[in-house]
Amino acid sequence: MYQHVLVAVDGSGPSTRAYREAIRLASDQRATLRVVHVIDLGVALAPWAEMAFVNYESVETSLRESGAQILEAALAEASAAGVAADSVMLETEVAEPAAEILSEADRWGADLIVMGTHGRHGLAHLILGSVAEGVVQRASMPVLLLRAADDAPPAA
Ligand code: AMP
Repeated sequence: MYQHVLVAVDGSGPSTRAYREAIRLASDQRATLRVVHVIDLGVALAPWAEMAFVNYESVETSLRESGAQILEAALAEASAAGVAADSVMLETEVAEPAAEILSEADRWGADLIVMGTHGRHGLAHLILGSVAEGVVQRASMPVLLLRAADDAPPAA
């Protein structure tokens, strides 16, 4: 049913859980995975970064290096599971990973997006927002969301 599954990874617990589910799903459906990581340069470009004497180039380099490591580890896991996968590293300067994920999903013709979510609410949601929510609200294809196992509420 699904042939092109795009999975957005950021190296967090929910993202790892989502990625493993995407591998299981892709294996079951004989689908191809595209693993996407967005480098958020907005953090390093923020006005406070200059005031705090943040070295923009070193922040940018370390974001790129950690992004490459996340993607490399993801591809190794897919390969170990016998799932066809490739990876794409994207960048945003306006702290909008969701927009980049959606553009890539449309460009590639993804028929499913898989992501994690911290499921934040209240003040944390207000301050940090939600990448997953940004994708779900605008995606033209189905989106599968997974929360970190530890975030699950205790059984009633
Ligand atoms: P949320 O906790 O709702 O903000 O959503 C977090 C999820 O969004 C992660 O588990 C990833 O699937 C995805 N995500 C967040 N940041 C990025 C990023 N920079 N690149 C790719 N995916 C991301």
